[in-house]
Amino acid sequence: MEVTAQSVWKNCLSFIKDNIQPQAYKTWFEPITAVKLTDNALSIQVPSKFFYEWLEEHYVKILKVALNKELGDRAKLVYVIKMENTYGNKQPFTEKIPSSNRSAVRSQDVDIPLKNKNPELKNPFIIPGIRNVKIESQLNPNYNFENFLEGDSNRLARNAGLAVANKPGGTSFNPLLIFGGVGLGKTHLSHAIGIDIKDKYPEKTVLYISAEKFTQQYIDSVKKNNRNDFIHFYQIIDVLIIDDVQFLSGKTGTQDVFFHIFNHLHQNGKQVILTSDKAPVDMQDIEQRLLSRFKWGLSAELQSPDFETRVSILKNKLYRDGVEMPDDIIEYVAKHIKTNVRELEGAIISLIAQSSFNKKEITISLAKEIVEKFVKNTKREVSIDYIQKVVSDYFQMDVDTLQSKTRKRHIVQARQLAMFFAKKYTKASLASIGSQIGKRDHATVLHACKTVDNLSSTDKQFRKYVEDIAKKLAL
Ligand code: ADP
Ligand code: MG
Repeated sequence: MEVTAQSVWKNCLSFIKDNIQPQAYKTWFEPITAVKLTDNALSIQVPSKFFYEWLEEHYVKILKVALNKELGDRAKLVYVIKMENTYGNKQPFTEKIPSSNRSAVRSQDVDIPLKNKNPELKNPFIIPGIRNVKIESQLNPNYNFENFLEGDSNRLARNAGLAVANKPGGTSFNPLLIFGGVGLGKTHLSHAIGIDIKDKYPEKTVLYISAEKFTQQYIDSVKKNNRNDFIHFYQIIDVLIIDDVQFLSGKTGTQDVFFHIFNHLHQNGKQVILTSDKAPVDMQDIEQRLLSRFKWGLSAELQSPDFETRVSILKNKLYRDGVEMPDDIIEYVAKHIKTNVRELEGAIISLIAQSSFNKKEITISLAKEIVEKFVKNTKREVSIDYIQKVVSDYFQMDVDTLQSKTRKRHIVQARQLAMFFAKKYTKASLASIGSQIGKRDHATVLHACKTVDNLSSTDKQFRKYVEDIAKKLAL
């Protein structure tokens, strides 16, 4: 068999896959493509500079072993960094960095020019003396790193947060985008980064603000005719934390002003930290040029914590509140409340409250009562399977047909409707919807959602389908 860059890399991957955690493999190795092989040098393309640094920092040894196995002792690895340039959709450009392939040599040996060739772009409108104005950071001291327990579900995000706090603006995690579902710790983690920076660099101006409040301030500034002051205020921040950026969906004016502020901060080496309830690929009605900025740094996901992490979060909370509780009760709560840390804390708080108000002993049966209330009160989500079932029943076909590869129009429409409702009624990402509905990709799902939107406003019969199915799905 001919030896190609792809075949060599494929072998390396299968070796690496066997030797590291599946999640790490997925995160750090699946996105890489092999691009070139010359003599004993293999070039691989990585999505960003951050990626390259992370690989060198954490995986250089295993890469070396894998490569030596394939190409012998003189094997070399060359990284090709794929970067988006300043203007979104234009040609990406690449930069080549030869790796030392020796762990002793680190990234400081390679000099990667910053995306911005003109970092000294100063704000011409800076208000003299404004540096003396103290800006309140709006940080909650209880949301610190110490209280933010680490587990598999948040390791990447937490560690990236620590790295940012050590060197705000000085890592390639800029912006750092933390995303994940409700109650998984986005707000807490973003505060923790801000607090840590304030500790380490008291002279830095840190500001936490929700995207909602940011939007409100912007609208007010337009009304009061001081939009420029608004912009200048944000341009002098050293570390800007904006929580829940999905709130900017569809708000083009605010997106526009944020885009300019972001560029200014980024060009001047200031740190931007964002949180969102969705991954960038799943964000809707956010301008492309802004989305492409979000992808410049690192997007780190907060996932639902596993059982062990849930137990430690509960124990930590009880310890901080000075409350003692038997392990079996803690474990009972952790076992039954799985997807949301806020609910987990809520259940334990009401358990403590119940027992102290009613002078009841905390028992498993009391725990059960309270957990049931919590689980019942959280509105049940329809599943994608259920949606597919309802849609196929409605069109009198079976689920296999709905998922099949056929291009027959009525089947395609049924499938698109299923995707549309999955997007509407579940929190699943486009990619995950696609993979569950006939193994399609996220672009197909996005296209399906748009098609259904269009058709329901132009085609009366089709609108009826949408309404009927919506009724059937109503809980
Ligand atoms: P989000 O902003 O993602 O909706 P929050 O940051 O408001 O979530 O977190 C919800 C609650 O869960 C907060 O009280 C927070 O302190 C707690 N929490 C979340 N993750 C952790 C964690 N890893 N360790 C300790 N507490 C956590
Ligand atoms: Mg939040």
